[in-house]
Amino acid sequence: MNYVSTRDKKLRLSSSQAIARGLAPDGGLMTPELLPRFPGRALETMKEMSYQQRVVYILGRFLDEFSANELSTYTTAAYTGKFSDPAIAPVRRLDERTHCLELWHGPTCAFKDMALQMLPHLLAASLVKNDEDKTVCILVATSGDTGKAALEGFKDVNRTKIAVFYPKDGVSEIQELQMVTQAGGNVGVYAVDGNFDDAQNGVKRLFADQRLAEQLAERGYFLSSANSINWGRVLPQIVYYVSAYCDLMREGTITNGEQINVCVPTGNFGDILAGYYAKMMGVPIKTLICASNQNNVLTDFINTGVYDKNRTFYHTLSPSMDILISSNLERLIFELSDRNDVLVRDYMQQLADHGRYQVNAAIQSRLKESFAAGFCDDEQTKQTIAKVWKEREYLIDPHTAVAFHVLEEYRERTGDDTLTLVVSTASPFKFCDCVLDALGVEEHQPGTDILDQLAQLTGVEIPTPLANLRGKNRRFQDAVDQGHMEDAVLQILK
Ligand SMILES: *Cc1c(COP(=O)(O)O)cnc(C)c1O
Repeated sequence: MNYVSTRDKKLRLSSSQAIARGLAPDGGLMTPELLPRFPGRALETMKEMSYQQRVVYILGRFLDEFSANELSTYTTAAYTGKFSDPAIAPVRRLDERTHCLELWHGPTCAFKDMALQMLPHLLAASLVKNDEDKTVCILVATSGDTGKAALEGFKDVNRTKIAVFYPKDGVSEIQELQMVTQAGGNVGVYAVDGNFDDAQNGVKRLFADQRLAEQLAERGYFLSSANSINWGRVLPQIVYYVSAYCDLMREGTITNGEQINVCVPTGNFGDILAGYYAKMMGVPIKTLICASNQNNVLTDFINTGVYDKNRTFYHTLSPSMDILISSNLERLIFELSDRNDVLVRDYMQQLADHGRYQVNAAIQSRLKESFAAGFCDDEQTKQTIAKVWKEREYLIDPHTAVAFHVLEEYRERTGDDTLTLVVSTASPFKFCDCVLDALGVEEHQPGTDILDQLAQLTGVEIPTPLANLRGKNRRFQDAVDQGHMEDAVLQILK
């Protein structure tokens, strides 16, 4: 199967080229030329499979250049033995109508692992298939979750190097510890003076730096990104929606064909987009409920058809969703416009020029057929953590809390009581300060002691990868200022 740019369907690449390049040459996003539909009995067939077998089955429909054998090898490397729950992405029943899809049992305790454990294998294999003899050097600017997940995924993968830049004072203490204790011979981790935007702008400058590109090429390297615009990150995320539906069938909660809703805490629109693809492929999903924090640009878009990023940016308790340009929305508009590349290009140009565009009535009505939206502020986030804990003894992180709050409002507003899968994106132990505050605890223990404090208060077990942070050496102490980030990149290539 070939991939086309959302901004020009004549721009066609093979799957391995799409993955190796990340972004389309015209700035668009590479998207499958034809979205495969599951054959009639596919869900029944997959019902009996393990998570890993489902991965191979689903990825195989999109990646015809990769044999089932290759895909099995990568899937085993990505998921087997690396997740604390044998189901990989288990579904927890909270009540008859509400189930939680837990995506944080991976090595870094956030849902980014679901894709970033797989992407490095697909990427390394794609380089080989394209006779690329250079080594890829991945650059990541992170507000916390992506950086660590990318480090764990790329750690010691052949023909890859990775440099992660995080804002010195912009990540939680646990998140920082996770990164600076990272193992692996091909990794570098750097604190950047400033906030997340400074780190991100610094990385963007590195990508645009022609001299750096030449220096790297001389040494046999080229730069790439592990950002969620890469198709290799969206694709593995489709699997857990399909898998959750199969699990609900297997345990008899639903029968094949019964519709469910999903509610997804959303930032860059990668996670919920994968849910939409699962729906288009034939998983009976009725409504995708898009849950935002106070940066509610997507709520307004889904409710009005106007995307307008000209608004205040808030630092919230759910930092992985603090975003005003949701890049993957471009792929949704491509689908909803019946793949009208000229229209997509026009909207994206308006976004670049004016920070705003309005989709036409046809797109807006199709948007409303599949999506609903709401948002949740910080106070409501904390109240929801407390409420879900008190009523159900279920401990959730602030991102997941946003989804729970939005779901509750959606149900009150619409009366829709369809069984709903709430996507849970991080372990609460990654955000101990916020969770303890929400539970009414004012004094917090320093360092990793805060993990024990939350565990003792709730009786919930600390995830092993976080418990193992205790007493680990800080391997990386380097702070760089924005002007010297290229030195950091050159240093890890030595
Ligand atoms: C990245 C992230 C999100 C947002 O996912 P998108 O694919 O960017 O919409 C939500 N929650 C957590 C914990 C995350 O790390």
